Amino acid sequence: MSVAHVLGYPRIGAKRELKFALEKYWRGELSENDLQAVAAALRKSHWQAQKDAGLDYVTVGDFSFYDQVLDTTQWLGALPERCIDQGSSALDNYFRAARGAAPTGKATTASELTKWFDTNYHYLVPELHADQSFHLQAEQLLGQINEALAQGHKVKPVILGPISYLYLAKTTDNSDKLALLGKLIPVYRQLLQAIEQTGCKWIQIDEPALVFELDNRWQEAFRITYKHLQDYQIRILLATYFDRVDHHLPLLQSVAVDGLHVDAVRGADTVQQIIDAWPKERVLSLGVIDGRNIWRNDLRASLQVLKTAQQKFNGRLWVSASSSLQHVPVDLTHEQKLPSEQRQWLAFARQKLDEIVTLSRALAEGVEAVESQLSESDQVIASRRHSPQTHRAAVRARHAAVNENDAKRHLPYNKRAALQRAALELPAFPTTTIGSFPQTPEIRALRAGWKKGQISEQEYRQGIRAQIADHIQRQEALGLDVLVHGEAERNDMVEYFGEQLEGFLFTENGWVQSYGSRCVKPPVIFGDVERKASITVDWAVYAQSLTEKPVKGMLTGPVTILCWSFNRDDLSRQAQCEQIALALRDEVLDLEKAGITIIQIDEPAIREGLPLRKGEQGAYLDWAVNAFKLATSGVADTTQIHTHMCYSEFNEIIDSIAALDADVITIETSRSHMELLQAFRDFAYPNEIGPGVYDIHSPVVPTTEQIEVLLEKALQHIPQERLWVNPDCGLKTRAWPETERALQAMVQAAKRLRAKH
Ligand code: GLN
Ligand code: ZN
Repeated sequence: MSVAHVLGYPRIGAKRELKFALEKYWRGELSENDLQAVAAALRKSHWQAQKDAGLDYVTVGDFSFYDQVLDTTQWLGALPERCIDQGSSALDNYFRAARGAAPTGKATTASELTKWFDTNYHYLVPELHADQSFHLQAEQLLGQINEALAQGHKVKPVILGPISYLYLAKTTDNSDKLALLGKLIPVYRQLLQAIEQTGCKWIQIDEPALVFELDNRWQEAFRITYKHLQDYQIRILLATYFDRVDHHLPLLQSVAVDGLHVDAVRGADTVQQIIDAWPKERVLSLGVIDGRNIWRNDLRASLQVLKTAQQKFNGRLWVSASSSLQHVPVDLTHEQKLPSEQRQWLAFARQKLDEIVTLSRALAEGVEAVESQLSESDQVIASRRHSPQTHRAAVRARHAAVNENDAKRHLPYNKRAALQRAALELPAFPTTTIGSFPQTPEIRALRAGWKKGQISEQEYRQGIRAQIADHIQRQEALGLDVLVHGEAERNDMVEYFGEQLEGFLFTENGWVQSYGSRCVKPPVIFGDVERKASITVDWAVYAQSLTEKPVKGMLTGPVTILCWSFNRDDLSRQAQCEQIALALRDEVLDLEKAGITIIQIDEPAIREGLPLRKGEQGAYLDWAVNAFKLATSGVADTTQIHTHMCYSEFNEIIDSIAALDADVITIETSRSHMELLQAFRDFAYPNEIGPGVYDIHSPVVPTTEQIEVLLEKALQHIPQERLWVNPDCGLKTRAWPETERALQAMVQAAKRLRAKH
């Protein structure tokens, strides 16, 4: 007997039912009761799926209207005070913390949203302070447990553990967040007691913070916490995920939890060590199925690992996915358009349930009982391994022949800059934009019509050309110095390139929650990446033909394409990234050959790819920087390479940003009021910088004076001959009237600066 379970299941629904219900509720088009009914139906179907697959428990507590960390804040009675409006419902208080506004009650500022470990999921950062109090308000969680019990399920609730909760929180008064532990533990104890009374035998407590190298204080806090949580009949499965935890083995052994879950995918190399060290009278749960990726499992290989553990743990060995399945799409059965060869290689959340059950049955009943599933897995693994698309000889040979010089510009920046200055003849404080212009309903309709085959290729191309002409005309009228074609042909900056490169797959419904009701549909890198034909050249050349001013070529960088896709698990991330870089290198060279003198390669995601463990970050940054340089270094020194970054903190990786050696970087800075530039100055960042002078996320139009003030501030950090003037990011989410007024103010501010300096 071996227990099959999951740490969590996607909550959004196979057709994003939760997203649509939430957005209707927020717009006031759905009542709270109806929203609750949609949520209950989703939970019911997710639990039923777990039961039908044959799992031994259904996991309860993984459902959330917005975010599991915010749910924790709510049951701890710790929502920020400004979100609580006595006149409105508890749900709306919760939504105010999530997004500022809710159908009832007074709007306020939302809590800060930030990345959940190294995933593309974002959580709401708990805002605590020194005299924070906590009160158990777990009606929702307890209600869901009873709901599942009433449906006849065997229930294993899941909660976020107190150590990880505090680790992920911030204090608004700079006080020590760990000092709040003493107040937190009693509320967790009350919750355990309440859950025990529902009759549940096990609870899963998530402590993903254990993947970090915690200092002594945090380790001690962990030890104390779990001593206080062990007084109950209910047994605790302590769940860690997203990386190995072998560095905390003594700590883990020192607490009397009844079971431990480890990530046996990311932590594959350390599983044996865990098996050896973990006491045999406790439960060990091995997450052998990848909870972060969409590949079908090599069941026979996983079984091998499990069998070693079974010798020691017998029935106390549990089988699971490495992490919650919330990070993968819901159900492959909704994919009807994938090529059948590649489709059989994939497993989404629903399919992963079957894999988990197959493995646990193999342990309990013997391999014979699941022989057909195992041989199907063998066949699928072999098909992928031997596919000519996963091993393209030409790509492999080219990649193997790459040498150091391929990733180096010929001359150093200062010499290049002189050549570029002479060639481009730009004014001081050159003005530009980041690439995209408003994606109007007209543009969307044009693309959609073409994709659905309702309009011809020729009509489509004419339509896009008309947009480009319009964009060029508007930019000339505004008096911008370096123009862009406007990206009207792109739905998404990664999907657009993936669709035109070999080696990528696209799903119809492969949605994964990013935050709240926001979902992303990442492409899948399945094979060796190759560029068959030029991608952007025609559009860029057309745009350039309409103006005397330089038009920037516009590409998405290799690291960003990698980070925003599902990656292969049969080739290193580095090699995948370099293959993409080589494909882009050809595109860069084709643009140059076609007369484009400035080429921008966006890398907004470079910071996101950073591994969790400090020890691994340097190696990542090295190959990420190298991939960018591989994509960009084929050009002549007169060609100006730009890059663009946004979304995250760049201070800690400033040396890597400098190592990209882009001639110009445009970077999001306005929300931090140019504070980021301090880091660039301290580092003596050598190349040109365009700090974003206004926030494109807001519809508010900046004034010339405001922009001028920011630019003067920027001049304290950047010498004037290296300062560019541009917005924070692309303008595709904005409308034209505000865009034109903002750019007008920006151009005006640059002119004032030219007159003054
Ligand atoms: N060139 C892209 C745009 O302008 C950059 C988008 C981004 O940085 N996220 O939309
Ligand atoms: Zn951006």
